[in-house]
Amino acid sequence: MRGELAFILSPRIQFAPFVRERIVLALTVMKFGGSSVGDAERMKRVANRIVERAREGHQCVVVVSAMGDTTDDLIDLSRELCEGIPSQREMDMLLTTGEQVSCSLLAMAIQSRGCKAVSYTGWQAGIYTEPVHGKARITGIQPWRVLESLKQGNIVIVAGFQGMTQESEITTLGRGGSDTTAVALAAAIIADDCEIYTDVDGIYSTDPRIVPVARKLKEISYDEMLELANLGAAVLHPRAVECAKRYNVNLVVRSSFTYNEGTQVKEEAVMEQGVAVRGIAYDKNVARISILGVTEKPGQLAIVFGALADQQIDVDIIVQSGVIDGKADFSFTVALNDVERALDVIKKIRHDVEFRDVTSETGLVKVSIVGAGMVSNPGVAATMFRVISGLGISINMVSTSEIKMSCIIESSRLAEVVKALHTAYGLDAGEQVFVGGPADRR
Ligand code: ASP
Ligand code: MG
Repeated sequence: MRGELAFILSPRIQFAPFVRERIVLALTVMKFGGSSVGDAERMKRVANRIVERAREGHQCVVVVSAMGDTTDDLIDLSRELCEGIPSQREMDMLLTTGEQVSCSLLAMAIQSRGCKAVSYTGWQAGIYTEPVHGKARITGIQPWRVLESLKQGNIVIVAGFQGMTQESEITTLGRGGSDTTAVALAAAIIADDCEIYTDVDGIYSTDPRIVPVARKLKEISYDEMLELANLGAAVLHPRAVECAKRYNVNLVVRSSFTYNEGTQVKEEAVMEQGVAVRGIAYDKNVARISILGVTEKPGQLAIVFGALADQQIDVDIIVQSGVIDGKADFSFTVALNDVERALDVIKKIRHDVEFRDVTSETGLVKVSIVGAGMVSNPGVAATMFRVISGLGISINMVSTSEIKMSCIIESSRLAEVVKALHTAYGLDAGEQVFVGGPADRR
């Protein structure tokens, strides 16, 4: 029953069960990013927006990021004062101050508009994390204090991006982690909605800076959003999307500067069907490493990728050529800043793996098409190849999954390729994208 839901304990995130007293109000979590609270004027605008929401009859829990570039500025400051790598613990002590500034100021701004408000740090709000500094995962939330304050008629402001370990150490959730605070809190208090307010209107079919006719999506599935977030679309933190999917949180991404509708992130089953490709993403942070003339024998790949994994180097796409005269070539991609280390690792295993040469290549980009309908639409892959080759561009590597296909191409041709794909898949604004009947909305 609504209002009497006890939160199911999961092995990964344990939220304390509770009974929410609900009258006629909707319970909404609103999250505002750094640019939305970048200065006093913007902070006032956000305060007005929250007060409006509360007066409409919503109970509001608000999560805020640090103002503007505060987090970056604090990082710069630490670099000036510290030779070598600073203590991770002290970095977390430092960076969490940014969110503490914005949540207290926002509470004051709301109070001066005649509403009751109270701000809490992550630990006061009961957000527990694993004992890792810099990118801790949330392990559980005890939202009693937040709920009690709501009951007393407060708008509750919670500092994003932070939590506390069982040993009372302060931790941070990784860059962009305030999104995760908001979604996890929404799950823990069984909020009706979680609204992520940002400086763009919603999730776009691709980067509007490259494709001016990019369209704002009305809706996107959790899985599609997760792919886009992991592929470098920085609008939402991937962990926040994972959490929303796991706990089925109604997520909306919208602008804090306009009243436009935004994009709903939801379960695929309740979405309108009929879209093969929902969005196009790109990632310039790729380099290709090729190991040439590797002697064919069992276990060679295991040695190479085992050695890379030991050094925490993430490998993305892997391609092996056919074997000629007992020799094969391998190529794989890594992040740009891992290239030197990866080359080092491979040179060091030369006594275990026989090969002729190892080379690296930069100036590449990974272009990906994402859509949950791809599996059931034959020809989606062929279209991607046709479009790219039609521009006279060669495809260096390809990878596919059920809902995504990526090609590695030279980065100088990126804009042309994304534009052409956007048109080919009928994504340009003004095209009819959503076919099929109205969704079976909950
Ligand atoms: N202030 C933190 C950052 O810049 C967290 C966030 O904004 O979500 O990464
Ligand atoms: Mg963000």
